[in-house]
Parts: sequence; structure tokens; C-alpha cells
Amino acid sequence: MPLVLASLSAANPAPANPAPANLAPASPRPAGGRGRPPRHLADLPLAERRAVVAGLGQPPFRASQLSRHFFGRYTDRPEEMSDLPLAARDPLTQVLLPRLLTPERELACDGGTTRKTLWRTFDGALVESVLMRYPDRVTMCVSSQAGCGMACPFCATGQAGLTRNLSTAEIVAQVVAGARMLADGQIPGGTGRVSNVVFMGMGEPLANYASVLAAVRRLTEPVPEGMGISQRSVTVSTVGLVPAIARLAAERLSVTLAVSLHAPDDELRDTLVPVNRRWKVAEVLDAAWGYAATTGRRVSIEYALIRDINDHAWRADELGSLLAGRLAHVNLIPLNPTPGSKWTASRPAAQREFVRRLEAHGVPVTVRDTRGREIDGACGQLAASASVPVSSPAGR
Ligand code: SAH
Repeated sequence: MPLVLASLSAANPAPANPAPANLAPASPRPAGGRGRPPRHLADLPLAERRAVVAGLGQPPFRASQLSRHFFGRYTDRPEEMSDLPLAARDPLTQVLLPRLLTPERELACDGGTTRKTLWRTFDGALVESVLMRYPDRVTMCVSSQAGCGMACPFCATGQAGLTRNLSTAEIVAQVVAGARMLADGQIPGGTGRVSNVVFMGMGEPLANYASVLAAVRRLTEPVPEGMGISQRSVTVSTVGLVPAIARLAAERLSVTLAVSLHAPDDELRDTLVPVNRRWKVAEVLDAAWGYAATTGRRVSIEYALIRDINDHAWRADELGSLLAGRLAHVNLIPLNPTPGSKWTASRPAAQREFVRRLEAHGVPVTVRDTRGREIDGACGQLAASASVPVSSPAGR
């Protein structure tokens, strides 16, 4: 598959929105530290956006106008806001629509229908998002943290450690950027909309609970509160932070929970998903069944098939007995290679046998496609490697 490399500076004109440097966050911030991302309307419920607008001496309904531009038309550019008085556009966009993410690099494959974007945040942290267009849907895979603290040895993001949590608006802005690409007709297949969001990019979403939950709300509330994506089309994927799973269940949302299990036994899972030393397989699955019972939503059990590590027939049987009769399905992910790791995907015969044994237990199974592999955009490959020169895709 040929790699298509798009220079973003050519594709996207420089943001007309003035540089955020002069945008002191208007809400009180603790002094010292690294500072937090500038406040953005996507961080706030609509009532608070109205209060900010009123504080600028503007009529509060301008908060809805701004919100429609951002969530409905995917723009933060004052010159595209012809319903706002000229003199009000700059002050309003500076205070409520600071540019949070600057595209650093974009990679495409699958004929342009898979796009990975590397973003630079206000403090230089790098995160990635991936847009995947299928015949029947468009999925945005978003990052919830810069880096990740969970240290799973087969995941590229886990190797570098955690840089910081993303803010709600930094998460939402990744989806809005994808929506804009689709609305502009930049993705082959005609104009379209983002239908699905998966929190399967960089980071552990439940370790950044408050920002992720607010992002889910923003993504799923109707315009102008949010983007109007269906809750059922949002998937939050976790290594298995048990208290946070219980907390998410109590929110009574209809989002899909994905649990990255990768092994049915504690001995192996302790090494593949180190947080298993804190919360064991049985506790994680109990929390998952609690989530299914409260929400009525089928839980997705993620299982990366790693050759000769976790793909044994007996482990398929053990997994099958753990899941039989539960509101769950298994998503098998052929391991995507990551730099410096000797692990690789299972042999086709082992994968087929794994599927067969799970099915024999009556457990629904799908094998995930490996979209984005050529651009290191597939599961576990997001490492924000800005050092790779834009002009040298060879050797991947
Ligand atoms: N931290 C969250 C979400 C990010 S990862 C989580 O762990 O669930 C999204 C999925 O990709 C997880 O199931 C993760 O285990 C899986 N994954 C990570 N590295 C992978 C790799 N190299 N190949 C295949 N899947 C991988």
C-alpha cells in the first residue's frame, strides 16, 4: 500500500485565529506548574459559555452562535462567522475558541480513507488521532492523554510514559478536526460526518476521568451544546481501572465499554497489562459485568493476539469459559508491530483456532482489521514520533 504524505501547511492555510499566545486563560489557574491548556468553549457547559460571553459585555446568545460554528460547522475562524458583528468576532473567538491543536504531520493510507494526524499542543506535547472511513461509517480514534502511564510492553504509547492529561477541549478538538476534513470533502468518498468515536488512541481514558467524561458529554450532546454524535457510537477503552469502570457505569450513559484483557489468567496478564497487579482479571470482569448490567450495553473484550505469548488454544478455552453467557463479545486484534519489540502477530492457524474455540463456548468474536498499520496508526502504534522526517516513509 503506497504511503500518501500530505504536507499540512500546503493543505491547510495558516489559522486566521490569532496565535493563542496572548490568550491568558480567563478562568483562574493555579500559579506555577506547567500550566493548563487555554480554556475553550468545549471545556464548558453551554450555561458557563453564556456567562463568559456576558462577562465580555456581549449578549449571552452569542455563546450559542459560537458553539454552532464550532460543533456544527467545525470552524473557529472569525472570518467564517458572518452572523457575528465584525467587532465582536475577534474578542469572542480569542476568549472561547483558542486554537488548541496545531497539525504537525499527516499520514494517509487505504487510498486516503485512513488519516493519522500528529498534533502539537500549546505546551509542545504531541498527540495523535486517526480517522478511518468505512463504507458505512467514519470512526475517529482519539487520544485522551499525551503518552500513557500504563506501561503495557506491547504498546508503543506505553513505552514513553505519561506526559500529561489532555483537557476536554483538546480531546473534542481532535474529533472536530476530523469532522471538518469530512465536511470539506478532503476524504475520498464525498462529504460525510463522523459517526463513531473510539477512545483508543494514546492514553488511558479512565486515568483522565473528568476530562474524558466531559468530552463524551460534549461529543454526544446535540448542537449547540455539543456535536450530536450518538452515545452508542462512542467507545471508551480501558486497561481495567476497576473503580473508574464502576463510576462510569453510574453515569448511566449508553457508551460502549471496551476492556483490554489480552490474557484470561493473572500470571500472564500481570506482565502484559501491568495494572493487573492492582486489579486482577476476576475483578476487572466483575466490573465489566456490572457495567453491562447497569447500562444494558454489550462489553467489548479486547484481546491482542501475540504469537506464542497469549494465543494458545487452552487460553482460548479459559477465556471462553470466563465469558460464556455474558453480555460480551471478543474483539481479537492481530498484534501490530512496535519498534524494539520482538513480539509479532499470531500465525493464521493459531488465530483461526482461537476464534473457533471462543465460538464453541458461544462467545461472539470479531477480528479487528489492522487499518493504519503502514502509517503506524493502528492500535498500539501511536507514539507521536515527530522525529521521523516527513519526506522519508521508506523503510516502514
Ligand atoms: N489505554 C486504553 C486505550 C488505548 S489502546 C486501553 O488499553 O484500552 C487501544 C487498544 O489497542 C487496547 O485494547 C490496547 O491493548 C490495544 N493495543 C495496544 N498495543 C497494541 C498492539 N501493538 N497491537 C494491537 N493492539 C494493541
